[in-house]
Amino acid sequence: MDRAASVTAAVARRGGLSAAEAAERLRADGPNVLPRERGRHPLVVLLLQFVHFFALMLWVAAGLALVAGMPELSVAIVLVVLLNGGFSFAQEFRADRAAQRLRDLMPSRAAVRRDGVRVVVDAADLVVGDEVLLQGGDRVCADAVVVEAAGLAVDESMLTGESVPARPEPGGPLRAGTHVVEGEAVATVTATGARTRLAGIAELTRRADRPTSPLARRLHRVVTVVGLIAAGVGVAFFGVALLLGLDATKGFLFAVGVTVALVPEGLLPTVTLSLARAAQEMARRNALVRRLESVETLGATTFICTDKTGTLTRNEMSVVRVWTPGGEAVVRGEGYAPDADVTGALDAARAVARSAVRCAPAARAELRAGRWVPVGDPMEVALHVLAARLGVDGPSPDAVRRPFDPRRRRSSAVDSDGVHVMGAPDAVLPLCRDDFGAHDEVERLGRQGLRVLAVARRADGDTEEDLTLLGVVALQDPPRTDVAESVAACRTAGIRLAMVTGDHPATARAIAEQVGLLGPDRLVVTGAELPADDAALGELLDRDGVVVARVTPEDKLRIARALQHRGHVVAMTGDGVNDGPALRAADIGVAMGASGTDVAREAADLVLLDDHFGTIVAAVELGRATFANIRRFLTYHLTDNVAELTPFVLWALSGGSFPLALSVLQVLALDIGTDLLPALALGAEPPNPRTLRGPARTGGLLDGSVLRRAFGVLGPAEAVTSMAAFAGVLWLGGWDLDDPALLATASGTAFTAIVIGQLANAFACRSATKPVRTLRGNRLLLGAVAFEVAVLAVFLFVPPLPGLLGGSPPSAWGWLFAAAAAPAVLLVDALYKKVTSRAGATRGR
Ligand code: ADP
Ligand code: MG
Repeated sequence: MDRAASVTAAVARRGGLSAAEAAERLRADGPNVLPRERGRHPLVVLLLQFVHFFALMLWVAAGLALVAGMPELSVAIVLVVLLNGGFSFAQEFRADRAAQRLRDLMPSRAAVRRDGVRVVVDAADLVVGDEVLLQGGDRVCADAVVVEAAGLAVDESMLTGESVPARPEPGGPLRAGTHVVEGEAVATVTATGARTRLAGIAELTRRADRPTSPLARRLHRVVTVVGLIAAGVGVAFFGVALLLGLDATKGFLFAVGVTVALVPEGLLPTVTLSLARAAQEMARRNALVRRLESVETLGATTFICTDKTGTLTRNEMSVVRVWTPGGEAVVRGEGYAPDADVTGALDAARAVARSAVRCAPAARAELRAGRWVPVGDPMEVALHVLAARLGVDGPSPDAVRRPFDPRRRRSSAVDSDGVHVMGAPDAVLPLCRDDFGAHDEVERLGRQGLRVLAVARRADGDTEEDLTLLGVVALQDPPRTDVAESVAACRTAGIRLAMVTGDHPATARAIAEQVGLLGPDRLVVTGAELPADDAALGELLDRDGVVVARVTPEDKLRIARALQHRGHVVAMTGDGVNDGPALRAADIGVAMGASGTDVAREAADLVLLDDHFGTIVAAVELGRATFANIRRFLTYHLTDNVAELTPFVLWALSGGSFPLALSVLQVLALDIGTDLLPALALGAEPPNPRTLRGPARTGGLLDGSVLRRAFGVLGPAEAVTSMAAFAGVLWLGGWDLDDPALLATASGTAFTAIVIGQLANAFACRSATKPVRTLRGNRLLLGAVAFEVAVLAVFLFVPPLPGLLGGSPPSAWGWLFAAAAAPAVLLVDALYKKVTSRAGATRGR
C-alpha cells in the first residue's frame, strides 16, 4: 500500500497516536470488528432438517404406515428421518464453520500513522483517534472524519444506495464499509466496531440469507427429480400390487419400500461437506474461496486470464538501467539495499530519479533480519531506492500528486519545481515535445523483459503537456521460478491461458516467453488493437497463449464476456480499484491478497493470499478433484439404488410369485446404516495425477457417464449377484416358500450380498477410468469400509435387529454366494473401464 507524499507530510506533522496509547484504547474499546452476523439459531437449523421436501414425504409415509398397522415400519422411517436430519445438521454445521473460518482468514488491513511512522495494522486493531491513510481501492474500516483529501472520491452505495461517489472535503465524514474509489486521504477515526454507523444499520446485522447458488439449485433439481420419480414409481407399484390382488397394506409396504429405496437422502449434505472440505484445503494452499460453490466452478475453468506483475513475476523490483537522452546509467545493486554501484550518466539519471520519486508515494525499504524488504508498492520502493543510491533527496512536502490510474497509465505531481510526470512510455512520450528516439530504447529494454517507465517534467506551468523527457527507467522483475511448471500444467489440463497486462507489449512478450506462456501463434496485441466486435474478439483470443498488453479495466471486462460467449468458464485476475466489474463478470474473479485493493478482493470469488499464479492452478486442481468426488459418491449411491429396487421389480414382474428378497427395513438399513460413511469417504478422495490431465469435465454432475455406469453396469452387477444369492439359498432349501426361516436366511443373504457388493463398489468408484489396483491412498475409505462390515455384523447377529429387519445370517453356502458379489462388481467394473477406455482411445485417434 502506498500513500501520497503530501498526505504523508501532513501526518508526519501530527504523528498520530503512540503505540502505547493505541494499545490502551484497544483494551478499553475492544477490537474494531462488527458484531457477528446473527446466524440462524442452531436449533432452527436442526429443525429445518426435518421439514424439507423429503423429510415431509417420509413423515407422511411414517404416518400412513402407522395407520396401516405397521408400527415397526413407522418407527423405522421416523428413525431414518431423525438420523438423516441429525447427520445433515452435523455436516451443515461443519460446512458453515469452515465458511466462517474462511471469512476470518480474509486479509483486512489498514495503514495508520503511529509514533510518527506509517504502519500497516490489522483493521481490527484500529482505535478512535488513529490517523488512517487511505487511497483508491481501500475499504474504509471505521467511521472517521477527513483531515486532508487529495482528489478523494468515496463509494457509499453500500450504505446509502447512492451510486455517484461522494467527494468529502476535510471535516467531512467517512463511514465504515464504504470504499475509496479515487484519490487519497488522511482521516481521524471517530468510531470503531459496534459503534460505527455500519453496525447500527439493522438490515446488515440481521441475518442476510444466503442466496441460493447455481450449484445448490442444480442439486436441488437433481434431488427433487429423483425424489419425484421415486414417489411415482412407488405409486405405480402400489397400483400393481392392488392389481395383483394383494391387500392394500402389503401393497403400500412395497410402495414405501420402492420410494425409500430410490430417494437419495444423504446427497445434499454430502455435497456441501465435500465442498467445504475442498475450500479448507484450498485455504491451506493460500487460495481463499469466498463462496463454497466457487470450488465447483474452479474445477470447470477452461480459460485463465492472468496479469503479469506479482502473479507471474515475483514483484521484486529493482531499477537496473536509466536511459536518458544524454546517455545511460547502469545500476548494479542487491535487491532493495540502499548502496549500489551506479555508472554512466549520473547527473541525467539523478534528474530522472528526482522527478520519479515526486510522482511516487512515500515508500521505503527496511532492514529486517539482515534483508532489505520493501514497505509499500515494490515498484515505488524501487524508485525511492534508486533515488537513495544516486544521493537524491526525497520528495518535497508541498507536492500535490495525482496518483497512478490504470486508464491514464501515469502518475504526476506538481511542486515548486513544476510538473513531474511518470508512467507507461506510450502514455507519457506523446506528451513530450521531443522523444529523442526513446521509443526504440523502450522496445530494446522491453524485449529484455524489463518494466519501463518514462519520466518527464515541465519547469513552468502545471499542465501535463509540452513536457521535457528526462529519461526512461527500466526495472527488473524476474519471473517466479515455479510459474513455468504451472503454465505447463494448464496446457496438460486443456486450460487456455492469456496474459492480460497493463504493461508494455515488448515487456509482456518477453515475460510470457520466459515462463512458457506465449503460444505457438506468438500473438501479442494491445488493448487498443482489440476488435470492437465481441465475436471477433472472442475468436482472436480463444487460442493458446495470447498476450494482451496495455489493457484498461474496460478491456478486461470485454475480454471476460467475449470468452464466456465462446462457452469458456473464465477465471480473470485483477487487483485495481477499477477491476471490480471484470472480476464480477468472470466466472471466477481472482484477486490478490498480498498486493491488491480491498475493492478487488470484495468483488472476487477467489483471493490468492500469496498472489501466485501457481495457486490458481492448485485451486483448479482441487476444484476438479472435488467435482470428481461428488460424481464418485453419486455413482456409489445410485448403484446401491439399483440393487435395492430390483427385488421389488422382480416381485412385481413375476406377479408376486417370486418372493420379495428385501424388506423395506433392510433397504433403509442399507441406505443409512452401511452406505453413508463410504460415500463420505469417497468425497474426501485426494487429487490424483490424472486430475489435471485432459480438459475439464463439461456437463453436470449427473451426466450420461455417471448414469450409464451406475444404472447400466455396477448396479445390475450388484443386483444380479444379490438376487442370485437369494435364489441360490432358496433353491438349496428346496424353494419352500412357506418356510419363514428359509426365507429369512435367503433375505439375509441377499442383504449381505449387497453390502459386500457395495464394499467392492466403494473401491471401484474411486476411479471412473482405472480398474481397482490398490486399496491404499484413502485411509478414510478403509475406515469406512471397516465400519460397514461392523454394521453388517450388527444387523445380522445382534437381536432383535435380524428379526426386525427380516434377514437371518446367511448359511455357509449363503456366505459363499454373497461373497461373490465383490469379485462380480470388480470384474464388471474392470471390463467396463477397459471397453470405455478403448472406445475413448479410438475416438481420440
Ligand atoms: P501490470 O499488468 O503489469 O500490473 P499495470 O497496469 O500495473 O501493469 O501498469 C502498466 C504500466 O503503467 C506499467 O508498465 C508502468 O509503465 C505504468 N505504471 C505502473 N504503475 C505506475 C505508477 N505507480 N506510476 C506511474 N506509472 C505506473
Ligand atoms: Mg499492476
